[in-house]
Amino acid sequence: MTSVLQLDDMRVPVEIGGSSRMARLTIEVDGSLRLKAAADVATEELQQFLASKREWVYRKLVEKEVLRYEPITKELVDGEGFLYLGRSHRLKIDEVDGAVRLERGRLVLPRQLLGVGEASLIAWYQRCGEAWLRPRSRTWAARLRVDAGPIEVADLGHKWGSATAGRRVRIHWATLQLSPSLVDYVLAHELAHLREPHHGPAFWQLLARVMPDYDERKQELAKRGACLWFGGIL
Ligand SMILES: [Zn+2]
Repeated sequence: MTSVLQLDDMRVPVEIGGSSRMARLTIEVDGSLRLKAAADVATEELQQFLASKREWVYRKLVEKEVLRYEPITKELVDGEGFLYLGRSHRLKIDEVDGAVRLERGRLVLPRQLLGVGEASLIAWYQRCGEAWLRPRSRTWAARLRVDAGPIEVADLGHKWGSATAGRRVRIHWATLQLSPSLVDYVLAHELAHLREPHHGPAFWQLLARVMPDYDERKQELAKRGACLWFGGIL
């Protein structure tokens, strides 16, 4: 009996036991899969069972809106590419003062920040992201007729964004690597939660009213989101 199976690029740890006749597949909050199997089921059978669940798994991952990604690490060297709003910018390590910035299409990392390069780059995404999101959030908030405070860009772990009572909307800094149309989706989605906290029909109707193609963007997000950088330096 294997203890880890594979579904496409996903690892599926297998645990023996549980009350199901053959097996039970669950998706954890972070999007990882777990299989609980009866002791007498053959590996081959489990693999078939898993394959039969493929469509369900992908549908659930989209519904759950979890970030599912292959860890991508970056190197802090000249020429390394970093996405911002859907465009790739080459890194340039330069003998200059100040903070990380975009200059003539290059992402400039002052050499003195090299030791804290990862944090400096993430801080840059946060700073630029908050500035970029400010006017967009006003526009979307007006369309959705919600009253939103300033958008905060932060590390939200396994979530693209979050909205809590008290008008607080936060967006994951990694979201800013996506194209504006997908960042808008995440933003409008979270702002819509200020009126409809749950993913019920009323929520999707509200979102569809201001963003008729939201479903396409949602699928696109699930696909694109898997290949972004979430921190991690080689
Ligand atoms: Zn949501």
